[in-house]
This record gives sequence, C-alpha cells and structure tokens, in this order.
Amino acid sequence: MKKMTILIPAYNEEDVLNQLYKRISTVADSIKKYSFEFLFINDGSKDNTIHILQRLRKQDQRVSYVDLSRNFGKEIAMIAGFDYATGDAVIIIDADLQDPPELIPEMIHYWEQGYDDVFAKRRNRAGETWLKKWTASKFYSLLQKLTRIPIQENTGDFRLLDRRCVDALKEMRESQRYTKGMFSWIGYNKKEILFDRDPRAAGESKWNYFKLFDLAIEGLTSFTTTPLRISAFFGFGISFFAFLYMAWVIIKTLIWDEPVMGYPSLMTVILFLGGIQLLSLGIIGEYLGRIFNETKNRPLYYVNIYNDEKVRNSVKNHA
Ligand code: UDP
Ligand code: MG
Repeated sequence: MKKMTILIPAYNEEDVLNQLYKRISTVADSIKKYSFEFLFINDGSKDNTIHILQRLRKQDQRVSYVDLSRNFGKEIAMIAGFDYATGDAVIIIDADLQDPPELIPEMIHYWEQGYDDVFAKRRNRAGETWLKKWTASKFYSLLQKLTRIPIQENTGDFRLLDRRCVDALKEMRESQRYTKGMFSWIGYNKKEILFDRDPRAAGESKWNYFKLFDLAIEGLTSFTTTPLRISAFFGFGISFFAFLYMAWVIIKTLIWDEPVMGYPSLMTVILFLGGIQLLSLGIIGEYLGRIFNETKNRPLYYVNIYNDEKVRNSVKNHA
C-alpha cells in the first residue's frame, strides 16, 4: 500500500494542534486506499507543542515528529520534513489550519492522474491586512519580471509533491532557502487547484514585515542576478552621461571661460552618485553574503528527537 506523508511545520502551535489533528485524521480515515504518516516538525517551539505531539503519538502511531534543536524557520523545517518523510507523496500543510485539509483528497486525485506537484492557489486571503496583500502582490510581480522561471502567485507551500519532487528538493542543500521558488525551479508536471484561505484558527502569525522583507530579499537574490545587472546598467548609463557632461564643461571653459558657480548642481551630482554607489555596493553585498553563507557548507539543521529517540547525526538518511 502506498503511503502519504502529511508534513506539518509547527512553531508555537499548541493552541491549534489538537484541532488540526482531528481535521487531518478525519480526512485520512476517509481515504482507505493509502496509509498515512502525519509528520510534524517542531521548529524549536517555546510552548507545549512538543508535549502535545508526544501525546498524539502515543494515541496514534501515524503521528511522527521531528524535534529540531532550535528554531530554524519554516523553510528549514520543510527541508527537515523532506529528509524524514517516508511517503510516496508528501503533502505540506500549515499547522494553523489556514490550509484546509479537506482539499487533500482532491490533491491525491490529481496525483493519481500523474501530476507531480499539485499546488493550492488562494482565491482570497481572508484575515490578512490589505497591506500584506498589496506588498505580496507587488513582490510577486517584481520577482516575475526579474526571473525567467515562472513563479506562482498567491500560492503558499500548501501542495502535494510526488516522491521524485521531494528527492529533487532534498538535493538542493542551500542554506538560505526560498522553497517557493524551488518548487518552480525543479519543474515536473504541475497542477493548480483553487481554494479559499481561512484566517488562522488560533494563535498568532509568526510573520512580521521584517521577516517578510527578509524572505523577499531571499527570493530575489536566490533566483535572479538581475539586480546586479541593473546596477551595472545604471553605472554604465551614468558614466556615459557624466562623460558627455565633462566634455561639455571642458569645451565650454575653453571657449567662454568659467566663473566659479554651480554649488547646487555639484552637490546634487555628488549626492546622487553617492546614493547609486551605496545601492550598488549593497546589492553586491547581498550576493556576497549569500556566497559566504553557502561556502560554509554547514548542515542545514540539527535534530534533537525523532519519534521519541535522541538523534546524533544532523540528517537521518532514509534509504
Ligand atoms: N513556522 C515554522 N517556523 C517558524 C515560523 C513558522 O515552522 O519559524 C510554521 C508555523 O507553525 C505554521 C507555518 O510555518 O505552520 C506558517 O506560519 P504562519 O502561520 O505564522 O505564517 P502565515 O500563515 O502568517 O504566513
Ligand atoms: Mg498562517
């Protein structure tokens, strides 16, 4: 019998876990064709999440959990999940019930038809502020303009992945991860399904604008080097005009002479160029920082406990 892994990254989710467990187990019980694994990744929660998971595991052997050694962030929690998932397909779902588990049968239906990546696209984004919606839509359109890989808008990480997608993602061991882009990058047969995203069932969103900004920079710098090209382009354009201007100033001085003047224009030019230079340095710095982080080649995470057993290695390798 084929097995489905439901992968749930959880960080401080004590308020919703029981509710979530009820909903996913109801869905799993209704699907007789497959066996299920509910793989929770406890991403260094500071609340009772781990105890709730341990209790759930005692009740129900389908529950597995990986307890990370500290909070690594959702992107890393997901790769840990890919490493530990044992299913023939993996369904990633948020712990906060913003992604309705009732969509899973439909995802499986398309998987059976041969799709490798069935992703759920939000029809609306209930419970999110207009500012978050607006920034998200602007970010997507910017990213899409800058890169050649199609990036799906209004799509979270809620999706079903075939084993071969999971194996592909496992080979991508970069430490600064932008998983949403990776789903697109690996390719394979994709299928979109629509759903209405609910507001969080309980607890609080772990996102803030700082994290979002961080992820946006991550997304840009990991998927495109266009910003580098833009800064080179600006540099080229500005140097060109500066050269023309210089020639003009020299000729003008030779022919008509030049009484000292032009403090405002001088300041403007200096400040403008200074700004462009700092911006370009910042962009180069972003990429340099990424190179620095990747060359360290550290393990992506450490695991504290896997299914009640202490873990020594950073990654447990399933055959
Ligand atoms: N999450 C995580 N590690 C973190 C932050 C979040 O594993 O450092 C999990 C969280 O428990 C949830 C999912 O990622 O299952 C999405 O987080 P959240 O609901 O806070 O994000 P939002 O839906 O607001 O974008
Ligand atoms: Mg959420």
